[in-house]
Amino acid sequence: MQEELDAIRTRAEADIDAAEDLDTLEQLRVAYLGKKGALTSLLKQVGQLEPEARKEAGQAVNAAKEAVQQRLEARREELARVALDRRLEAERVDVSLPGRDAEVGNLHPVTRMLERIEDLFVAMGFEVDQGPEIEDAFHNFEALNIPEDHPARMMHDTFYFDDHWLLRTHTSPVQIRVMAEREPPLRTIAPGRVFRCDSDVTHTPMFHQVEGFVVDEGVTFAHLKGLMKDFLQRLFERDDLPVRFRPSYFPFTEPSAEVDIGCVLCEGTGCRVCKHTGWLEVLGAGLIHPNVFGYVGVDAERYSGLAFGMGVERLTMLRYGVDDLRLFFENDVRFLAQFQKGA
Ligand SMILES: [Zn+2]
Repeated sequence: MQEELDAIRTRAEADIDAAEDLDTLEQLRVAYLGKKGALTSLLKQVGQLEPEARKEAGQAVNAAKEAVQQRLEARREELARVALDRRLEAERVDVSLPGRDAEVGNLHPVTRMLERIEDLFVAMGFEVDQGPEIEDAFHNFEALNIPEDHPARMMHDTFYFDDHWLLRTHTSPVQIRVMAEREPPLRTIAPGRVFRCDSDVTHTPMFHQVEGFVVDEGVTFAHLKGLMKDFLQRLFERDDLPVRFRPSYFPFTEPSAEVDIGCVLCEGTGCRVCKHTGWLEVLGAGLIHPNVFGYVGVDAERYSGLAFGMGVERLTMLRYGVDDLRLFFENDVRFLAQFQKGA
């Protein structure tokens, strides 16, 4: 029996030392010390021995059980320590590593274009003015020579709050506010958001306009032509950019014109964007209608004025070659990240 006991103990200790994880160790405990374990069943055999041999054999088996138990405990602690060391190593934080850089954002292409337009006009001596986005019908329509029953009101697809208040459909009301408050000579541009109840590939319910005007003695259409040509050639950074004026109609200017530039995408040879005409419409302009002066108390006998307005999104699309207006408002970082500083 002693031989068998020694053999079991030797095998148990070898198994325990070889165990690589806590699960294996638990299986070994059951195999040797459990109810049906090897040492437990040996202890049961002790009861069948002669009484004088029983005591000695019992002590030997219990000593072996004790030894195996201790070996198990020791191995368990060792494995736990190894596991902890491994975890500490894996989760170690290297405080000497440099921190992660925060990515620097960049300006939205429409903002970039707005700032560019402002810079060009400020360099030519213009002031920058702003007005409210919630306007009244007087400033948005009436004072701009668009009376209640005028068909141009229908063209504007206006968001109304009630009969009096609305979301401005253009930045032209700023012209009215500035002329009513300040004395000529005036040179002002009014950049800002405008709203129309319209949405498709080339229209969004909110977009940006820059309105500009000059009021002084002796302002003529020649000044308007020179100013627009100079501005557009600077904006597109091309001294030879063709600019042409076509007769048009706006209620608040007389005469009125639409201003085209030679297509910047096909150089005038014709493409999808210019509808194969070689020209792109970029501005509306004209001389301020005397009726408008009447509404704001400017002496139309003494002063004359020029005014112009442009869609900022359209200019941005042309400058950067963007073919879908909606991209500006979807806030896809992959799209926006392409417009880095200096572009
Ligand atoms: Zn073209």
